[in-house]
Amino acid sequence: MDYYGKRMSKLIEQLSALPGIGSKSAQRLAFHIIHMPEDRVKQLTDAITDARENVRYCKECCTLTDQEICPICSNPARDKKTIMVVETTRDLAAYEKTGKYEGVYHVLHGAISPMLGVGPGDIRLKELIKRLEGDVSEVIIATNSSLEGETTAMYISKLIKPTGIKVSRIASGVPVGGDLEYIDEMTLLRALEGRVEL
Ligand code: ZN
Repeated sequence: MDYYGKRMSKLIEQLSALPGIGSKSAQRLAFHIIHMPEDRVKQLTDAITDARENVRYCKECCTLTDQEICPICSNPARDKKTIMVVETTRDLAAYEKTGKYEGVYHVLHGAISPMLGVGPGDIRLKELIKRLEGDVSEVIIATNSSLEGETTAMYISKLIKPTGIKVSRIASGVPVGGDLEYIDEMTLLRALEGRVEL
């Protein structure tokens, strides 16, 4: 039933297709947007288009960035020999907020999940293995403690072991099934400091 007219319905439909936005939230956002000043709406749509066009993967760590090499990888003060493997750029941001980690990262953009049909070739593992040809002394696996995160950690450690590079896993102080980005900084730091060699 088209209560709002075609254009409004189309906007609601687009918004409700976004993750975490149900039809009620979509309607609320749509009404908010049509009551916004036109220049504010333009700023919003420009920001969306600009981000979509210019955000890409860092050539080294695969995190999302708008430069060829992200600011972390291009910072000479960071320890390039220590690579922390995380599932998402949001996990990277969570560790960066602690301000205590001095190494670099590798962002997988997902985790292995046989149930969901996500295999090793579907995440950025090849890129990680390629990096290990360089001068790397430790790989810290900081994937989530969900089934997928643990499966991925096991897979990576088996892959790296034969190279002789030290592989460690963050401590299990991180609640099972907990998404890293929702965990407070102290817990993250404890998990990092208490990491165990695999
Ligand atoms: Zn990078």
